[in-house]
Amino acid sequence: HSGFVAIVGRPNVGKSTFLNRIIGQKIAIMSDKAQTTRNKIQGVYTTDNAQIVFLDTPGIHKPINKLDDFMEDSAMSALNEVDAVLFMVSATETRGAGDNFIIDKLKKVNKPIYLLINKIDDINPNKLLDIMDTYKNALDWSEVFPISALQGNNVDELLNNLENRL
Ligand code: GDP
Ligand code: MG
Repeated sequence: HSGFVAIVGRPNVGKSTFLNRIIGQKIAIMSDKAQTTRNKIQGVYTTDNAQIVFLDTPGIHKPINKLDDFMEDSAMSALNEVDAVLFMVSATETRGAGDNFIIDKLKKVNKPIYLLINKIDDINPNKLLDIMDTYKNALDWSEVFPISALQGNNVDELLNNLENRL
């Protein structure tokens, strides 16, 4: 089980926290495939039976000028070169324009897309179903995982699922 996975989401949802938690190894490999992407390799997650290269995909946000527009297009084409996409939102904030902009872009990505609802440690558990409801039908998610990148809740379950898909 191995492959390339991009993580996307608006600023501050917890992408870096998530990557820092799961990646224990510095970049040791560079495949041809990685070099063809415009993605930046963030790290490699390695277990006995899996190796997943995580890519940061900068530039997926609402373009404000022509250069931005170009960056945005290349970020989107990069998403078509990975094996799966993790889309992260924050459970502590309501679904907003920043989330919707990315969701709209992801509609054109023909790859497994996981919805990660992060920061569940910071909300009233009673609210989780409501939050999940607001995203449930936004896209045809391959999987939906409520997680806490900070405390680790449900992160192993997510990684196991992802490993098995690759
Ligand atoms: P990024 O911009 O998406 O990379 O977000 P960061 O990883 O930099 O996180 C933004 C802020 O959210 C930081 O203050 C993190 O400590 C906090 N954060 C990230 N994940 C969690 C989480 O699971 N729970 C809580 N309570 N805070 C989190
Ligand atoms: Mg970050």
